[in-house]
Formats: sequence, C-alpha cells, structure tokens
Amino acid sequence: MDSKYLKSLEPGFDPLTVCEEASRCLLCLDAPCSKACPAGTNPDKFIRSVRFRNFKGAAEIVRENNALGAICARVCPTEKYCQKGCSRSGIDRPIDIGRIQRYITDYEEAVKMEILKAPKDNGKSVGIVGSGPAALQAAVSLRLLGYKVEVYEKENVLGGMLRLIPEYRLPDRVVDHEIKRIEDLGVKFHKGVFVGKDKSLDDLKKAHDAVLLAPGYSYGKMLQLFEGHKNVVLAVDFLREVKAKKGGVKVPNNVLVVGGGDVAMDVNATMKLLGVEHVTDVVYEQFVEFKASKKELEGAQRLGVTIIDGYVPVSFDGKKAKFAHRVIKSELEIEADLVVLAVGQYPDVSGLGVELVKGEVNEGADYHTKDPKVFVCGDIAHSRFDKTVVGGVRTGKEVALYIDASLGGK
Ligand SMILES: Cc1cc2nc3c(=O)[nH]c(=O)nc-3n(C[C@H](O)[C@H](O)[C@H](O)COP(=O)(O)OP(=O)(O)OC[C@H]3O[C@@H](n4cnc5c(N)ncnc54)[C@H](O)[C@@H]3O)c2cc1C
Ligand code: SF4
Repeated sequence: MDSKYLKSLEPGFDPLTVCEEASRCLLCLDAPCSKACPAGTNPDKFIRSVRFRNFKGAAEIVRENNALGAICARVCPTEKYCQKGCSRSGIDRPIDIGRIQRYITDYEEAVKMEILKAPKDNGKSVGIVGSGPAALQAAVSLRLLGYKVEVYEKENVLGGMLRLIPEYRLPDRVVDHEIKRIEDLGVKFHKGVFVGKDKSLDDLKKAHDAVLLAPGYSYGKMLQLFEGHKNVVLAVDFLREVKAKKGGVKVPNNVLVVGGGDVAMDVNATMKLLGVEHVTDVVYEQFVEFKASKKELEGAQRLGVTIIDGYVPVSFDGKKAKFAHRVIKSELEIEADLVVLAVGQYPDVSGLGVELVKGEVNEGADYHTKDPKVFVCGDIAHSRFDKTVVGGVRTGKEVALYIDASLGGK
C-alpha cells in the first residue's frame, strides 16, 4: 500500500551527511548531552566515533548502553534531553543527536552486528510481566547478568505501547528487529498470557526466583458523555488498529479528536496522513498549558489539523458535540462522523498483588514492592523518570541491578 502513513516524515542521514553533522560537535569534555540522556546512551562518545568514521565503534557504544537504541533514536523527545543542553546551541543549533543515532543503529542492522552476548547462566531466573520498553530493557540487563528470563505478555504482539506509535515515526520493522535481537540473547517470550487471569502471580513466583511487573498504562480512558456511541473510539485502540493494519483502515472524512497530549497529536497526524479532509482537535488546556511537545503540535498543525484550545465537552448526541470554554463565555458545536478520545491512559494491576497510589506503585523504595520477590518498573513504577520510552529503559536498567542485589549479586 502506498500510504503517506507508512513513510517517515523525516529523512535519515547518509554516510556523508552523518559525518558532516558529527563534525559540528564541539567534543565537550564534561558533555551535557550525555549527562542528560536518561538511558546513559553516551551521545558524546558515539558522535566522536562517527567523526572518526568508526561506525562500528559508535554502534557498540549505543547498544551496550541502550537495548532499544534504534527505537530511542526515532521516538525520544531529544529536545527535552540530550539536545536541550547541547553546547552547540550557543553557536547555531544543537547537534541532531537522534538522527545520528538512527544512522548508527541502521548501520548496525545493515551489517548484521551482534554486539551483546549473554554470559553463562547463573542458575537463577526472573519472570517479567509485560513486554513494553521497560520490560525489554530489564530482560536484556538481567540476561547480561546471567539470569534466565521469561516474559509474559497478554497481547499476541510484543512491544507494549511501541506497537501504537505510528508507523511514520516508528516502523514495526525496527521494533521487530530489536525484539529479535533480545530473543537471540536467550530471552523467552510467552505471548497471549494474561497474568492475573491465565496465570497467577503465585504461578510466576513458584516458577522464578523473582518477578518483575511492567504492565504499563495499557488502557485508554473513556469520557462518560461519549460512552455507548458506536462512532466513538479510544485513541489507543485506533492507533493500535491502524498500525497493525499498516494504515489499511477506513476513516470518514470528518473527524473530531478530543485531547491535547502527544497521543492526540499522533491521532491528528495519522488522520491527515490517511487522507482525512477535516480533522478538528478540541483541547481542554489552553495553548500556554499544552501537554503535547511543541514539535508534535506544530507537526499536526502543518499537516492541516485545526486545533481549538481551552474547551470542555458538555454534550454529545451521537453526531454533534457541544463544548464550553473553560474561562470565557463561549460555546462551540462540532459535527463529526467519528470521534477519537485521547484523554489519557490508566494502568490495571488487578491480580498482580500490588496497589496503585495516584497511578503508581510506591510500596517500597527503588522498584521494590511489599513482597520481597516482586519488583516493578516502567510507567507504573514510582520513579524519577518521565513516562517515555527512554524513561522505561532507565527504570529497566536500574531495576535489574536491584533484582540482582536481592538475589545475591553485586
Ligand atoms: C500513542 C503513543 C505514542 C507514544 N509516543 C511516544 C514517543 O514518541 N516517545 C516516547 O518516549 N514515549 C512515547 N509514548 C510513551 C511510551 O510508549 C511509554 O511510556 C512506554 O511504552 C511505557 O513502557 P512500559 O514498559 O512501562 O509499558 P507499556 O509499553 O505500556 O507495555 C506494557 C505491556 O504490558 C502488558 N500487560 C499489561 N498487563 C498485563 C498482564 N496482567 N499480563 C501480561 N501482560 C500485561 C501490556 O499488554 C503491554 O504490552 C507513547 C505512548 C503512546 C500510547
Ligand atoms: S553537548 Fe552537543 S556539542 Fe557537546 S559533545 Fe554533546 S553533542 Fe557535541
């Protein structure tokens, strides 16, 4: 299918342009970019390798520090992390670190490098619930410490929310390749196993020396006003379906999106790339309070999405939605053939033996729970890191060290 949805909106570098970009780097001594990467991917070091045309060395630096390096290269909000503090900004603009990393990991794939090697089994095993980025990184970090690792995923597809990030930003091919690499390291995946239903937490505790919970924020929120109408869908369900069907879904020509975060912006852009003529996004926040990153917001606007800020939905009759402004006295009526709700996600940990406080497990410090055998990481963990892929990678790396320590490692 020749759909705009399937094509990257941002071209990658070639061998010449990646070296040109790397040669703009100031080779800072105490590099702010590396300090700001939650995953510790060490951009200053891999950029230095690229400057000296050592792509292999650069790939080793990325991979040894970040099991999802090819994914982070594409989806990391670099403007918030490594590129934010880049010293080159003081001269003209920051180094395009994300795209350099993308070139390096594409190179790694093209020349079939196998960088990570698992040591001899240490005789202990860890069961992981969920297969999102936090679980995948934890699986790799534990495997590299010699643990046998088994991952239990309720869906029939691995990758968690990575399977919702639209194809034009994160192709399935890249996710498949990262997971294949993890399988090759010896991590065993069980698909279609809902822990808490198909298997109990006790089953996992009997089968493994430790259990790690990483179920993420898997469920989309509904607004009561819109409940029960057949032309209303949740953003997470819509994005999952479009991606699974490679853009091959039917959408009407007049769509209303409700929500103003990055997920709403993904829905907006996806709609336009699928060819929808009228996409109107009504957002609770006013522009100054927007949750979506500036890059995503501007991207959606450039594609022709109409974004209206500061309104709350007050009624819906199955076709027409009425909104009232939060501050000024103003009403708005919008007719649409399809409504997509992107008003947040929530976690469900029923059957997993933990309690959530404000959406997070915060029962013990540093990824512990009340049960000494059970740990948490990723979006549900109470941690210092954002609910992002790279935040998940960081929690996955850290929790592996805590599990190792609890099982007699260093
Ligand atoms: C549309 C969208 C776009 C995004 N875009 C970006 C982006 O551009 N950049 C970025 O950094 N972040 C982005 N994010 C956020 C990022 O994807 C999440 O922060 C990250 O995936 C969280 O990782 P996780 O491992 O905690 O959980 P998840 O990725 O949510 O994975 C959890 C997994 O656990 C499984 N599971 C849940 N309960 C059970 C159970 N009981 N038994 C078995 N399996 C279970 C779920 O099915 C799921 O596969 C986006 C999120 C969405 C939804
Ligand atoms: S902060 Fe910018 S200029 Fe300095 S090492 Fe990192 S990428 Fe290069």
